[in-house]
Amino acid sequence: MTIKTAIIKIDSLKPQPERISKAAKFIQNGGVVVFPTETVYGIGANAFDDAACKKIFEIKGRPADNPLIVHVYSLDQAVKIAHIENKYLNKIKKIWPSPITFIAKARADLPKSVTAGLDTVAIRMPAHPVALSLIKKAGVPIAAPSANPSQKPTATTGSQCIKYFDRKVDCIIDSGSSFFGLESTIIDLRTFTLLRPGPFTPEEIETAFSMKPHVGKIASGTASAGRRVISPGTKYRHYAPETPLFMFEGDERRLSSMLESIEVPFAIIGSSEMCAFAERLGCSTVSMGSRKDLYNIAKNLYSSVILLDSLKVKFGIVESFEQRGVGLAIMNRLRKASANKSFSTKRELLKLL
Ligand code: AMP
Ligand code: MG
Repeated sequence: MTIKTAIIKIDSLKPQPERISKAAKFIQNGGVVVFPTETVYGIGANAFDDAACKKIFEIKGRPADNPLIVHVYSLDQAVKIAHIENKYLNKIKKIWPSPITFIAKARADLPKSVTAGLDTVAIRMPAHPVALSLIKKAGVPIAAPSANPSQKPTATTGSQCIKYFDRKVDCIIDSGSSFFGLESTIIDLRTFTLLRPGPFTPEEIETAFSMKPHVGKIASGTASAGRRVISPGTKYRHYAPETPLFMFEGDERRLSSMLESIEVPFAIIGSSEMCAFAERLGCSTVSMGSRKDLYNIAKNLYSSVILLDSLKVKFGIVESFEQRGVGLAIMNRLRKASANKSFSTKRELLKLL
């Protein structure tokens, strides 16, 4: 089904109130609005409107058992939705708004579409002036997963949202680029476990809470949640380009001998350092920026993966990064984008082709 989409440009740092009001009306009237946050763009609806939230699943092609994150603009709004223990509430007060989502017991009678029938809810206060003004103006919390058709790389710019969702949603707010480019960190407060790494790093969590979060294999992206429902989204294929993508784990100086004799066209996605090396070998490249600035790599990650498909190559090779700080989140997304297919020798690469 196609519908008319209102595309509204809003300044990311100084949102124009009349434009926010226009977008907020769509939320109040049961519509679906694509909006920017500091992490990635979200596709949102009134969290208390079951029919509106169901539309999000339909538009994205999202499995019904994958719950949504509820976005709030104040702590008061958060505690009306989730039971957050006092010992955590004081710490959260200090760090929100920020790119971190918490899972806690659901308080209000939230629609099943939002929680996927779980007794918990995911909740976040985004640090983006447009998102905060929109939620405040709408007067309701906004349930919003990432703005991408299910399995596709997430949109981190307004123009990518228009490519994905024009004529499918009521409104798209275009505020340019997201600040971080990766989805929020998710912490399950019941066990203080990192369910999804994101821009808020495990090291920062430890400092804020004086407690180390549990970090399992799910966080690095090397294992799925399997049949045990911890964070349903972790079991699905994600962020993948159409072009097969393989991760190279090893010393780049060994790459040249591995790539000799490969006759089909391919491209390398990596740091500017890796790309400079690969260009000397005559390879096509997509640079995500210097490996000295992992936040910049994170910011460019999805748009680089999207770009790979426009190069019309048979496969892509992506560089691996150190799993420290925001590197953990980068590797989680890259492992998923490459469906966990990695190589460190020529024999392993040939097996993948
Ligand atoms: P997205 O916003 O598209 O990145 O998706 C939201 C993520 O939050 C998915 O990975 C969900 O599985 C996860 N999530 C949402 N609600 C819950 C919950 N109650 N318990 C665990 N994970 C959740
Ligand atoms: Mg998502």
